[in-house]
Amino acid sequence: MIDKLKKILINLPGWRTNSKVIVIESDDWGSIRSSSNKALEDLKNSGIKVDNCSYMQNDAIASNEDLELLFNILAKKNTPKITANFLTSNPDFNKIKESGFNRYYSESILETVKRYPKHDNAKNLWLEGKNQGFFYPQLHGREHLNIPRWLQDLKDGNEETLLAFKHKMFGVSAHIVQKRRASYQAALDGNFSVDLHDKKSIIKEAVQEFNQIFGFKPESFIAPNYIWDSLVEKALAQEKVMFLQGTHIQRLPRGLGEKLQYRRHALGDVNEYDQKYLVRNAFFEPSSNKDKDWVDSCLSEIKIAFLMRKPAIISSHRVNFVGFLNQKNRDQNLKLFEELIKRINKNWPGVHYLTTAELTKLIG
Ligand SMILES: [Zn+2]
Repeated sequence: MIDKLKKILINLPGWRTNSKVIVIESDDWGSIRSSSNKALEDLKNSGIKVDNCSYMQNDAIASNEDLELLFNILAKKNTPKITANFLTSNPDFNKIKESGFNRYYSESILETVKRYPKHDNAKNLWLEGKNQGFFYPQLHGREHLNIPRWLQDLKDGNEETLLAFKHKMFGVSAHIVQKRRASYQAALDGNFSVDLHDKKSIIKEAVQEFNQIFGFKPESFIAPNYIWDSLVEKALAQEKVMFLQGTHIQRLPRGLGEKLQYRRHALGDVNEYDQKYLVRNAFFEPSSNKDKDWVDSCLSEIKIAFLMRKPAIISSHRVNFVGFLNQKNRDQNLKLFEELIKRINKNWPGVHYLTTAELTKLIG
């Protein structure tokens, strides 16, 4: 009951529409998470509690087959469009190691997929999905990595971080390691006064690289781990990225142990740079908890959104659609995804499936 009330409250303020709109926002595309099952085995044997994190177990760069199976569903009539929020680069592990962890080098995600064994068609599939209109790229950042935090730990000889590095991984979740530290994935967290954390150039290069890969500039941005500040907004505004995806809570950057500070947003709220906020109000994340009925809970969130005359903006991360490491993860979740679509179409015939970019045009 309290849960339901909270969901109603999130939908109370902000922009409204009479049409029934469904948007699916899916973060993390392009970024490395876990590189192989062999790597996971090694991390587990060293004491990292991989089994306690569904992202570590299942999230990876989507293979040709992962993309093909997802696209088979999206290509059917009356199915959602997925807004795929991309990172544009990953660390260049070899060059970073050669520098003695003193410098940061990156590689384009186009280079990363070339190193992966079942991914030789990934780039073509990304572009095909975009051209078909059902897999529409937007920006999630330059890399899903807090560079100063990670480099410092590598230099200091953090064994867990070094072991992951050996397997060309950085995204080991902070809650499953032995040595207490802040998140590496929270790219724009902290306020380090070093060039490597210059938010303006990180954003500028991310938009440039995105344009090089996909042939257009992103309309919207979603900050890694929902953490950003006005420096990020300003840099995005200078690149003409005028919409900010997120939840109703924006987390502000902080150091380890510092108090969490946040800002609240309603759908369509405008900031000092004339950018508008988008607010996710539904969640379909079956990979994160197998015991929960995600189809049911997502349908009830959509129902509340529509009652409040809001678009349903559903968060569903890449991890749900990836079977490269664990085929069962993908196959089970795709079945649930199809079940969700079937029931949406039954409950609300004529529903409009839009991308985030199409929604921004409606909001104006
Ligand atoms: Zn992310």
